[in-house]
Amino acid sequence: MPHTPGSNEKVLRGIPVSPGVCRGRIVAIPRVQETEIPRLVLSESDAAHQIARLEQALLATRHEIQEVQRQVSQGLGAQDASIFDAHLHVLDDPMMLEEVTRLIRDERLTAEYAFKQTAEKFARTFAAIGDEYLRERTTDIRDVATRVLNHLLGRDEEGVLHQIKEPCIIIAYDLTPTQTAQLDKKKVLGFATDVGGRTSHTAIMARSHRIPAVVGLQTASHDLVTGQYALLDGFNGQIILNPTDQTLFEYGQLVRRQVTLEEKLRDTIDKPAITLDGARITLSANVEQPGDTEAVLASGAEGVGLFRTEYLFINRDTLPTEEEQFAAYRQVAAALKPAPVIIRTLDLGGDKFLSHLSVPQEMNPFLGWRAIRFCLQERDIFRDQLRAILRASVEGNIKIMYPMISGLDELNQANAFLAELKTELDGEGIAYDKRLEVGAMIEIPSAAVAADSLARRVQFFSLGTNDLIQYSLAVDRLNAKIAHLYEPTHPAIVRLIKMTADAGRKHGIWTGVCGEMAGDPVLAPLLLGLGVTELSAAPSVVPQIKYLIRRTKLKEAESLAEFALESDSGAEILARCRKLARGVAPGLFDQGVGP
Ligand code: PEP
Ligand code: MG
Repeated sequence: MPHTPGSNEKVLRGIPVSPGVCRGRIVAIPRVQETEIPRLVLSESDAAHQIARLEQALLATRHEIQEVQRQVSQGLGAQDASIFDAHLHVLDDPMMLEEVTRLIRDERLTAEYAFKQTAEKFARTFAAIGDEYLRERTTDIRDVATRVLNHLLGRDEEGVLHQIKEPCIIIAYDLTPTQTAQLDKKKVLGFATDVGGRTSHTAIMARSHRIPAVVGLQTASHDLVTGQYALLDGFNGQIILNPTDQTLFEYGQLVRRQVTLEEKLRDTIDKPAITLDGARITLSANVEQPGDTEAVLASGAEGVGLFRTEYLFINRDTLPTEEEQFAAYRQVAAALKPAPVIIRTLDLGGDKFLSHLSVPQEMNPFLGWRAIRFCLQERDIFRDQLRAILRASVEGNIKIMYPMISGLDELNQANAFLAELKTELDGEGIAYDKRLEVGAMIEIPSAAVAADSLARRVQFFSLGTNDLIQYSLAVDRLNAKIAHLYEPTHPAIVRLIKMTADAGRKHGIWTGVCGEMAGDPVLAPLLLGLGVTELSAAPSVVPQIKYLIRRTKLKEAESLAEFALESDSGAEILARCRKLARGVAPGLFDQGVGP
């Protein structure tokens, strides 16, 4: 940790993912590894206490499993809930419990150590058996063991997050998008994680909730201690422990400059996103919840370019019904009418999961059962959503788009299902928008290359650059270790964007960008120069993008794109993008601190 001489100020550096500065006490939530359970030998008199702890943990685990079982059987039916019977049997296994008790009594071990040793021994024994049914019990034993150990070790991150009483800065090993969505803005001043990347959904959520955040801090959650005082700088990606008066003064100035900038940006809210040479750009906002429409209107965006509907599905115990979804989509469409609202169909998987759907664990979730792949197989879930969107489309301003289209076959299947549901609604006499437009997200390289054939079957393209970059460059968007390889200006990305926009134009459809590139003032001009005519970004950054567009000439953006298409260096392209953006809107980039 760098150290400022003469003070006990310490600076930890990570990746900035959500702008803003905050200061306060830290709540540290490190990752507890099971391997860390030490083998402590206790005195004889401790055995009764250890056995009582074990019994309490077993009882708590039983209640927990029964609760999950109840939720699953309500959501999916008794059949799916039956796997939890096997888990309850593990908890009751007399041989296993006898062995744990013996280790506590005779060898004077702690309950957690004895339980972990025994569960591992039993799991290994089952794993070695030829019979497939018995082998499967290994997973049950490991699942149950994790739950019991969580109770014994007080390892409950969700619990810690719910118990926060005072406003604080959270420093965690990791936060899932689900946890981030649950954070209470009044109590969480900012957060930082050891892992993660700029386009992880956790980072995206932080930006949309305007919570300053830093990721990729490596071992911060382990090195920092609850109760320490720190400043979190979401502009430059730093945590400063025990900041000196000089540091606080410099940050005070930075915050003042930001307030002045925000006042300036407010002036553009009611103005159109039009370049200096008269090119009209559609500037829309990305939303996660029906309640986000207020932020959309306040940002000056012209509608919604991406409604991430999966957030309607997470943080609850059952799937949302068609009626609930209908109400949510209609609410958004009605609030923003006549501005368009692009509803993206369910994009579950990757880093967004539902605890109540028993989706098997995958080695490569981002390459797995995700988004349209999931929906085309789980037709009941897809049906409810498409019917809800169709019904809400009577408002007249809804468009649909499918995520993760890899080629024509998936697009045709999705469109055929949509047509089937329209016929179903016709049969029921239920109205929907007959001119409803359908778009494809271009976020898999194969879709960009095949954009020419996809363009004949849709009315628009929306480039999901977050995934397009991760898949094209084979760089996991969550992995802080390789974040330096996640390069939006890589020549291959520039060419894929151009290829998509050209294919769209050839077939008379527009191309937008709803990935995080669209909300980056440095990169937005490049996108416009490549032929993109719609940008959709978090409401919090929409004013900056509009400010920049209104100071840029499309001609300059096109020259930048021409340069980028000729260049073979991502760094060189980025440098040119920076030069243009800083030249036209220097005030947007004044976020440094110090002399
Ligand atoms: C993208 O991939 O760029 C995108 C907008 O979708 P998401 O970030 O939700 O995967
Ligand atoms: Mg995506």
